[in-house]
Amino acid sequence: MWSPEYSLTGSYEYREECIFAATMFLEPSFHTQRRGWIEVICGSMFSGKTEELIRRLKRVKIAGQSVEIFKPFQDTRYSIDQVVSHDARAILSRPVKHSTEILTVASNIEVIGIDEAQFFDLELKNVCEELALRGHRVIVAGLDMDFRGRPFGPMPDLLAVAEYVTKLHAICSHCGNLATHTYRLIADAETVVLGETDIYEARCRYCYSLGNILDLRQKR
Ligand code: ZN
Repeated sequence: MWSPEYSLTGSYEYREECIFAATMFLEPSFHTQRRGWIEVICGSMFSGKTEELIRRLKRVKIAGQSVEIFKPFQDTRYSIDQVVSHDARAILSRPVKHSTEILTVASNIEVIGIDEAQFFDLELKNVCEELALRGHRVIVAGLDMDFRGRPFGPMPDLLAVAEYVTKLHAICSHCGNLATHTYRLIADAETVVLGETDIYEARCRYCYSLGNILDLRQKR
């Protein structure tokens, strides 16, 4: 696929394949012994974080590896015991109130998925490092910034210690550029207000900086 002959074609299909290969996360493989590591999938809302988490976990299941998935107890937008993405692809998960509960996971579980990691306590970074040292592959998905543009909960610490980081982007609701920020459409001082497109939209850095000026333009 990556031969020089092929790379000289310059075809549309080839370029698409390059983009796909560059963005697709490819797992390292250790054939001689079990090694643990941390992967973080981050980005704004509507960037496809949970879909990417589900994609990796489904591949793991197809390979016959054991998986356990956790999410914070408060994330009950759709379902108590499932990780559910915006496009309704679901996978069973266990809600926990404190990140240290994840350490009770059985030692024979090979892969641990953690969704909505931004809502966990700050201990999550130490929990993930402990799990990786025990030999688990840990895949964490979460918002890197809150609606104020600040690093969200344990995510900055996790991004610092992870072996692999994938930053996904949404599409800006106003200009169509890549979006890195989550803009909240309602006035509410709380950092955590669960909701969907009626409460949040993805924006690029510039459109995010314009704040509610863009809201007013929309209403004209
Ligand atoms: Zn924009």
